[in-house]
Amino acid sequence: MAKAADGGVTLAVASGKGGTGKTTVAVSLALAAGDRGSVEFIDCDVEEPNAHLFLSPRITGREAVEILVPEVDLGRCTFCGRCAEACRFGALAVVGRKVLFHPELCHGCGLCALACPERAIRERPEAIGWVEEGEAQGVRFLQGILNVGEPMATPIVRKLKERMGQRQLTILDAPPGTGCPVIETLKGADFALLVTEPTPFGLHDLRLALEVTQILGVPAGVVISKDGIGTDTVERHCRDQEIPVLLRIPMDRRIASAYAHGIPLLEVLPEWTDPFLGLLEASLNGAKRAR
Ligand code: SF4
Ligand code: SF4
Repeated sequence: MAKAADGGVTLAVASGKGGTGKTTVAVSLALAAGDRGSVEFIDCDVEEPNAHLFLSPRITGREAVEILVPEVDLGRCTFCGRCAEACRFGALAVVGRKVLFHPELCHGCGLCALACPERAIRERPEAIGWVEEGEAQGVRFLQGILNVGEPMATPIVRKLKERMGQRQLTILDAPPGTGCPVIETLKGADFALLVTEPTPFGLHDLRLALEVTQILGVPAGVVISKDGIGTDTVERHCRDQEIPVLLRIPMDRRIASAYAHGIPLLEVLPEWTDPFLGLLEASLNGAKRAR
């Protein structure tokens, strides 16, 4: 897997669910750090990439992402059903003298071709989305886009990460949740910033996200967004688990309105540049300590 440039650092910004302000944090970090140069921003939320709305990148390159899917040669097929048995995603079914293929379930793992005793399965490439590259306010910008209806986000995240590592600081905007695309995003990161709301639901999602970072061995810190709306349950949990709370962003109508209009937080409230630079510094220190 690609790593950040030599001596560079990869920071992933994640959250247990959508709508917590994860992209606001990731974009603000990139814009605050961008003035120092040598920064790249990668939007790994390939099902719903939205960082481009705030960064308005100039896109200069685009590449399709393909997976290999099976194609059965009915002339060789004996309809033995081994391929369907091997497919744990239920993408193949053998009914009488027909092999039914459900592309929306296929993960492109290639097992069916290996399982076929007649070598009747050929693998053909199928596009599932694409990656784009460009530049936004001095920051190298990458994003992935999954075709509508495609179930497989992970190969696009993998392709994005193959292209990273050309700058001293890489900021990964992870997809929401704790599924495979999030794990792929967090793998190999030097530090994870977990964005959460100070509510019992926020704590539930934070716990899951922390579990993932712990399994992957990625050190983590917490950013509390919409601070003031809930309880101190997240703070208490972080204190008990010795997870640092590195920034608290208050519930502020100006921030919500800027988000709704696709305007970066730092453009509306430039006084937040220093707190985000502080967050960056704390994250870099957290990454260094873990090395
Ligand atoms: S394993 Fe091969 S021969 Fe058997 S049903 Fe599948 S494609 Fe046909
Ligand atoms: S490539 Fe993998 S997921 Fe797709 S049909 Fe074959 S066994 Fe199933």
